[in-house]
Amino acid sequence: MDPGGNGQSGAVLTCYKHPKTETRLRCNKCARPVCAKCIVRTPVGYRCRECVNVQQKAFYAGFRPIHYLIALVVAFPLAVVAGWLIPRLGWYAIFLGPLVGVGIAEAARWATRRKRGQYTWLVVCGSIVVGALPNLLTSLLLLFALGGRMPGGPGYLPAGTIRLIWGLVYVLMATTSAYARLRGVTRP
Ligand SMILES: [Zn+2]
Ligand SMILES: [Zn+2]
Repeated sequence: MDPGGNGQSGAVLTCYKHPKTETRLRCNKCARPVCAKCIVRTPVGYRCRECVNVQQKAFYAGFRPIHYLIALVVAFPLAVVAGWLIPRLGWYAIFLGPLVGVGIAEAARWATRRKRGQYTWLVVCGSIVVGALPNLLTSLLLLFALGGRMPGGPGYLPAGTIRLIWGLVYVLMATTSAYARLRGVTRP
């Protein structure tokens, strides 16, 4: 283990894949010399592609495509309920949005037995966006199509505006926090 990779005095290293390319870098896992093209920068130092692949396979071990479906089945209903409810609570959306995002992300992780999938974040964030659509679309409908003409009159216009704004705030808050939560645990 020599992260610097420049241990031997005088020895000219050549990349293990490109014998003609001289290098001063070594993989900090298997210690083979690797050229700048072949090296991969990871949170734990410079590694060769093979070591990175082995590491990634271990990281995602046990994850099956069915887990995406399980994540969807759990995340989507929650996202539909939250997407309809939260924008109606006004400015609470500012702090409920992130809570809901993390909550749905954790529910999906729990349902998939914490197996890590590369695109679980996409399933969860997609659910949050689609789940928020009924509120956003009906808000838009109130605003533009029916606005002034609805019985009850001008009261509908601000209502639609406010729900639209909090709906957008909620989606933004929930997706970014779910993304941050899941990317953190699904990337080696
Ligand atoms: Zn290596
Ligand atoms: Zn190389």
